[in-house]
Amino acid sequence: MDISLVIPLLNEEESLPELTAWIEKVMEENHYTYEIIYVDDGSTDESWKVIEQLRQKNSNVKGIKFQRNYGKSAGLNEGFRAAQGDVVITMDADLQDSPDEIPELRRLITEDGFDLVSGWKKKRYDNKFTKNLPSKLFNAVARQMSKIKLHDFNCGLKSYNKKVVKSIEVYGEMHRYVPVLAKWAGFRKIGEKVVEHRPRKYGISKFGWTRFINGFLDLLTIFFIGKFGKRPMHFFGLWGTVFFLIGLIFAVYLVVSKIVDFGYPITNRVGFYLSSTAIIIGMQLFLAGFIGELVSRSAAGRNSYLIETKTGL
Ligand code: UDP
Ligand code: MG
Repeated sequence: MDISLVIPLLNEEESLPELTAWIEKVMEENHYTYEIIYVDDGSTDESWKVIEQLRQKNSNVKGIKFQRNYGKSAGLNEGFRAAQGDVVITMDADLQDSPDEIPELRRLITEDGFDLVSGWKKKRYDNKFTKNLPSKLFNAVARQMSKIKLHDFNCGLKSYNKKVVKSIEVYGEMHRYVPVLAKWAGFRKIGEKVVEHRPRKYGISKFGWTRFINGFLDLLTIFFIGKFGKRPMHFFGLWGTVFFLIGLIFAVYLVVSKIVDFGYPITNRVGFYLSSTAIIIGMQLFLAGFIGELVSRSAAGRNSYLIETKTGL
């Protein structure tokens, strides 16, 4: 199969028929063999019924319905597991991404050898202040932290080599950072293509302003896990030791000065409180590192590695 389209959706009943018809048109013009995997993320409208009707007309349409709303990442993850195509393309269901981009996105994978190509909504049709500006800032930070040169990490329209989607797990709210997950898994050829972005035609956006807070916290998580996830002691242990030593040196100094200069109570000195606090913080950091180390030792995936090829085995 040439292409699997993975489309997570939440309450998009009006958009689905139009989107499906458009995709079918593009696929037929290019003679691709394909499947459209709709992942209904717990819609409360008629979306699932619409998907079933679409399947009756075209057996390339397939669907997965969640029992409840789990989030876009969960939708992508399940879609990725089910996908059979050599190239997997994700897009949003709200008609903001154009199916006309599909042939070029596929070509970049099959001919130019990219592992992952991300869309770049260079001209966006969203609210300037609540979305476009924060998103610029957010992308700049993500670029810095991950060292992946993308302008638009969170674009829903992306294409993947099948190998990539079968190697990664999208969980939590990590759909914003799939390129980072791919890079961790060892897929380094990550490209970008300017794509047409369109205003939302039906319904409303499913992410509110909390997207920025959550997005930022997830960015920190991903950065931290990427760097220290497998060796928490290298972070906590280092800073724990530094704090502890600072506190200890202060404490020794206080005791010595007390002996030299009788009478002046240690507890009246600012240094006493600084030193006690530093020692406590140091021990807590150290303990956090130690517990982190124990947790990562007993994690189920502690020894699972992605093996590219073998010879003689
Ligand atoms: N979506 C989803 N589960 C959710 C929220 C959103 O599957 O919990 C889908 C939504 O239906 C759409 C895509 O994710 O297909 C992108 O959502 P939306 O268009 O609301 O985001 P925006 O374009 O505002 O960033
Ligand atoms: Mg949208």
